[in-house]
Amino acid sequence: MSKNVSHPILLVTACALVDADGRVLLTQRPEGKSLAGLWEFPGGKVDPGETPEESLIRELHEELGITVKPDCLAPLTFASHTYETFHLLMPLFICRRYEGIPLGVEGQVLKWVKPKEMRDYPMPPADIPLIPFLIDLL
Ligand code: C5P
Repeated sequence: MSKNVSHPILLVTACALVDADGRVLLTQRPEGKSLAGLWEFPGGKVDPGETPEESLIRELHEELGITVKPDCLAPLTFASHTYETFHLLMPLFICRRYEGIPLGVEGQVLKWVKPKEMRDYPMPPADIPLIPFLIDLL
């Protein structure tokens, strides 16, 4: 594909879920998914008709079994990356208050990580620029 050809846009949300010690939750993409083994911020694709917040609340419930109220999500920044067949736009939210204990409902491995330790976890290219942003913020 020529570099000048534009790509369809994929809208995916991501969340920096932060615990009382300032650690951030990373989840590992499971075998059988694209980018398997890489670590990411929980979230997922926005379905047609959903707002990013609605989508993220749904994804956090489906993936981690937690309940997040809309006023507990705050937008932080956007990640953006051109993959081979699509351009990813990924708003990043922060959440410090939720109900339930996060579990890997879909079999994902979870890890609470100090901001500076996030660099030790290989991530998809779209997520990597979010690391210095979160280190500065947290
Ligand atoms: O999670 P899901 O497979 O639905 O995401 C679709 C695509 O979005 C992935 O194949 C990956 O290329 C990209 N993605 C990403 N960073 C994330 C989540 C998804 O780059 N945190």
